[in-house]
Amino acid sequence: MTNNPHISFEFFAAKTEQGRIKLKTTCHELDKFSPEFYSVTYGAGGSTRDTTKDLVLGIQADGYSAAPHLSVGGDSTKDVIKLVQSYKDAGINKLVALRGDLPSGIGGTKQLVHANELVALIRQHTGDHFEIQVAAYPEIHPEAESYSKDVYWLGEKFKAGANSAITQYFYNPDAYFRFIDECAKVGIEQPILPGIMPLTNYHNLMRFSDNCGADIPRWLRWQLKERSDNSDDLIKYGIDIVTKLCEDLLAGGAPGLHFYTMNQWRISDTLCRNLGLPLKAL
Ligand code: FAD
Repeated sequence: MTNNPHISFEFFAAKTEQGRIKLKTTCHELDKFSPEFYSVTYGAGGSTRDTTKDLVLGIQADGYSAAPHLSVGGDSTKDVIKLVQSYKDAGINKLVALRGDLPSGIGGTKQLVHANELVALIRQHTGDHFEIQVAAYPEIHPEAESYSKDVYWLGEKFKAGANSAITQYFYNPDAYFRFIDECAKVGIEQPILPGIMPLTNYHNLMRFSDNCGADIPRWLRWQLKERSDNSDDLIKYGIDIVTKLCEDLLAGGAPGLHFYTMNQWRISDTLCRNLGLPLKAL
């Protein structure tokens, strides 16, 4: 069992005033678990560039550690360097560096910049200032050439200077442990933190998982489908399943957990309490 696991929480870039207020509450409520950071996603193609930055700086101004997600997307590398420099100047010291995807509707003329190249660019311009996290895929990225190529490219992200990785969500802990073993075989020793997606909505989960290549085991699909008309029942069932997943991951040596909160605090709070994570002394 991992002692004092690293805990972090992810938010999407809320665009409305109501969404921002809710995020403030979420940060406040989850702070009791002493998270290492709160991260804020970056819309495909840079569509939330300013929103992500405003939210990250707001979270930091409220006294928490905040990490922006970042991709080159549709921007020039010059603009990306400017953005990274502005984060450095504002005292942000963590980043999640991604290739990202192009927003639907944008044609294939723009070449996406791979995450290893973005990490190298950030290191080239800001040295060791940032702790950089990258994405990893225990069930393998949907566009990967092969399992071993995907592991290889993760290794290249670390060689370029990433410090750790956060995984795409999954519900089969074996996929994670096998992936860690394969990474170890090629010399990847940096921490790879499981990304944890609470189970809250059957239809959204199915749609999103098909797109991002996350496998929902057949038994779980059926269990969730049966509860898809009763959200209380589904959430209760989902909490049991995800608590057990987190327990298995920590018992097997995962260095921590990164929760995809969907900007809600209650379910992440229940999961962290179920896991017996230490609460901050008031
Ligand atoms: P890469 O590491 O570049 O990999 C993409 C694919 O290309 C893989 O198949 C890989 O095997 C291959 N590859 C990698 N490097 C090379 C190379 N140099 N040459 C050739 N092939 C290569 N998306 C967003 O839009 N915004 C977000 O905020 C966001 N946050 C995320 C957070 C986490 C923790 C995770 C797991 C994903 C997140 N995503 C986000 C989704 C992510 O952007 C997509 O999965 C995207 O398709 C791949 O991004 P990547 O950084 O893993 O890309």
